[in-house]
Amino acid sequence: MIKLQLPPDIIWLIVILILIIYLVYDTYTRKPKKTEKIIRERLVCTKCGYIVEREFEPGDFIGLVKGKCPSCGGDLKIKAIYAIEKEKL
Ligand SMILES: [Zn+2]
Repeated sequence: MIKLQLPPDIIWLIVILILIIYLVYDTYTRKPKKTEKIIRERLVCTKCGYIVEREFEPGDFIGLVKGKCPSCGGDLKIKAIYAIEKEKL
C-alpha cells in the first residue's frame, strides 16, 4: 500500500482551488432568467359578456370597440389591458 502524505497546507489549497473552480463554473453555466413582457387585452362583449383575450395591438385603448362577438354578434369592447411576464427558455 502506498500512503500519500500531503501536507495540510496543500490539502487546503486544493480545497480552495476546487471551490474557486466550482464558483467560476457555476457563474458561467448559470443561465440568466430572461423574461419577456407581453401586453394582452381583454375584450368583453357588451351584449352577452363573452370574454376574448388577445395580444395588445398598438393604438388600442380601454373602451375601444374592437370587432364583433363570435357568440352573439355584439360589440366587443376592450375592458382591460395588462402585461404579463413570460419566461424565456
Ligand atoms: Zn356576445
